[in-house]
This record gives sequence, C-alpha cells and structure tokens, in this order.
Amino acid sequence: MAVADFAVISDIHGNLEALDAVLADIEARETGSGGKRPVLFLGDAAGYGPNPNECIEKIRKVIFHGIAGNHDRAATGQTGISNFNLYAQESIRWTTGILSPENKAFLEGLPLVCQMEEEGLFLVHGSPYEPEKWHYLLYFSQASVNFEHFEEKVCLIGHSHLPFVMERSPSGQLIAYRDGADLDKAGCRYIINAGSVGQPRDGDPRACYLLLSGARAEFVRVSYDIEATQQKMRAAGLPTPLIERLQRGL
Ligand code: ZN
Repeated sequence: MAVADFAVISDIHGNLEALDAVLADIEARETGSGGKRPVLFLGDAAGYGPNPNECIEKIRKVIFHGIAGNHDRAATGQTGISNFNLYAQESIRWTTGILSPENKAFLEGLPLVCQMEEEGLFLVHGSPYEPEKWHYLLYFSQASVNFEHFEEKVCLIGHSHLPFVMERSPSGQLIAYRDGADLDKAGCRYIINAGSVGQPRDGDPRACYLLLSGARAEFVRVSYDIEATQQKMRAAGLPTPLIERLQRGL
C-alpha cells in the first residue's frame, strides 16, 4: 500500500479566483506529520476562463507532477477542436490568442500520462485507455475496460469535472463513492476523478479538489468569488453560457 499525502487539482480552466482559493486551502492543511502536501495537476489549466496565463504561472510554480488536458493541447494547437462545442471553440481561440510564449511552451511540454510507481499512482486527464483520444470515463462499463490499462493501485483522472471514487475488488466487482473513500481494502484498485477547480459540473458551484491523506481520499469544496471571475469573462467577451454556468456549477 503506497499512496501518500498529496493534493490533487484538475480542470482549472483559467479561473484564477478558484485556483487561489484552492491553493490557500491546501496550504492551510498540514499532513499528519506536519508537512505540506505536494500538488498533482491532472490537466486543463486553460480554456473557458479569463486568466489562463496567471493560472499557468501559478501551476508552474507549485506542482510536483502535472499532465496535459485536452484544452491545454487545443490551446497550443497540439490537438484539434472539431469535437469541441461552439462555446468551447470560441474560448480556445481566445485563449490561444493571449497565451504567453513561456506558458505555451510549458503546456506543450506537459506529458499525456504520468506514472508514479513508488506511490502506486497513475495520472491521466481523460482515460488510461487511449489517453490521446480524450474519452470520458463515467460508467462502470468504461471503468471495467480502463482498469486493464494501468498497472498502479490508483488512477487519478479529471476531464468530466465530476468527482467520484470507483473501487474494483479482486473479483472485479465495482462500487462508486461520491464523497471520498478509504483506499486500503485488500486487493482493491481505484479510479478517482478529482473534480474541477475552475468549472464544477456536479451542481455544487464551489471549487473542488482531492485530498489524499495516507490511504484516505476526500473531496474538498472551497468557496470563491464567482462574480469576480464572471466579470472578467464578460470584459473579455467570452460566451455568456460559459459565464452563467459557473454560478450553477453545471
Ligand atoms: Zn476540463
């Protein structure tokens, strides 16, 4: 049993107010041994929100390991946007236009997956199966396939912005948890979606991140100044539906 003390952030989407609130919350929580948790980043620093450069600069400074999301790769031109909806396409074009060369280079350098063998963690934005195709992983049927595509005890994902823990027993039985779970059941393996810092979609508009403490996984919700983010989006001329969804968390 590995897994240790980490804070896991995903899908920030240029929302600086949400990212600042989450980083402050992480900073304020000490581990059992009185230390600070290293931060793991599961992709999508950019897209949708008004502050991609500022968010990437913070992420560059704080993360221990990080991987790319589909919006990061779309903003750099490394992946196409034909499967994005029109609002997402518009926000990606806007993002590409304002990314600094340094931040673009940072996003370009993020890998698609990260294996942390010692800790028993595998990081990927969408799914371990064909990570470059950005599949969503939401159902037990998809999870069953995906458990065959990583070796580690725990796979950490983002992409759908919906936090959950899926547990697979040695016999192949699957259970899902919404609020958190213990990761130390004999022979069990896990797929955990860390939720979204900057654009939650589970009906709770507060920022979401995942706290790993020893063998315990817990989702943390943090309030932030949603109106401040929305105002910046309006000033930037970003699509109205993307602005309004933040206060609904959908
Ligand atoms: Zn995302």
